[in-house]
Amino acid sequence: MRLLTLALFCALLAFNAPATAAPAFEARVLGASGGIDESDLTCVLLGRAGTGESIALDAGTVYAGLVRAFGPRAGDVLKHHLHGYFLSHAHLDHVSGLAIVSPDDTPKPVHGLPATVDALRDHLFNGRLWPNFTNEGDKPIGKYTLVRMTPGEAVDVPAAGLRVTAFPLSHGGEAGSTAFLVTADEAAALYLGDTGPDAVEGAGRLANLWDAVAPLVRSGALRAIFIEASYPDPRPDALLFGHLTPKWIAQEIHVLAARVSPDADTQAKALRGLTLVVTHIKPRTEGQGDVRAEIRKQLAPLVARGVKVIVPRSGERLRF
Ligand SMILES: [Zn+2]
Ligand SMILES: [Zn+2]
Repeated sequence: MRLLTLALFCALLAFNAPATAAPAFEARVLGASGGIDESDLTCVLLGRAGTGESIALDAGTVYAGLVRAFGPRAGDVLKHHLHGYFLSHAHLDHVSGLAIVSPDDTPKPVHGLPATVDALRDHLFNGRLWPNFTNEGDKPIGKYTLVRMTPGEAVDVPAAGLRVTAFPLSHGGEAGSTAFLVTADEAAALYLGDTGPDAVEGAGRLANLWDAVAPLVRSGALRAIFIEASYPDPRPDALLFGHLTPKWIAQEIHVLAARVSPDADTQAKALRGLTLVVTHIKPRTEGQGDVRAEIRKQLAPLVARGVKVIVPRSGERLRF
């Protein structure tokens, strides 16, 4: 009888066990905004959960974010536990922190699509705007090794145990941008740099990205999507400047769900398994109200469908 009770208890436990697996990743948001505060510009440290080793996705704010996240360990994390930068594009709110930490940083690779890497070499680390800490161009100091990524081809970061694949995004005009798919064994996380919606940009870049990651959503491997919401709604299309708002995020996430399956039940299940981390919010300099709270509220239709929405602050630790 006692054995039977125990067996029943174990069966109940198994039944009640959460469907979600143990966290595969740990992220530290070093910068969560898309402007105007220079101590809070876009940068996310991402690593395997429990290892303390990571890569940086964008580098708008580096040191100020490390201090907020790690206190007196900031310098140690920068020098010994950050194993490379992946830059979505060369706009200053994504690279200025890299320039500022470069004199005190340790040698490491700086990855991006060719247009991003070329822009860094030609216009930032060129000996005029800033000393040339890269390994290319005029009088290179050689601390940062520039690595040009090929869309769809994975790059390994052995020290962090991660693989990273780049996908091009459209970001208004000529700039272009990049999404990085980061994998740790079977688990994956997706980080989108600045991007406009396909309907406005017209290049179909997000549709291509959703096609690529839909199988990972279907299998439950995709743990989180970092995506930008630069402005709250309403925002005229002509004033998006290559960015998203909550309305456009919802629209794009429904495109993703449709790529996961044509079946409504399967789509609903896919949405229930998604975690969105919303970044690059532009703070208000005029007018009233907490823009983060407003954006979160405007994402309520996705939350109602079971999507987990996180609007992090700089320094925050996330596990997924
Ligand atoms: Zn930006
Ligand atoms: Zn940008």
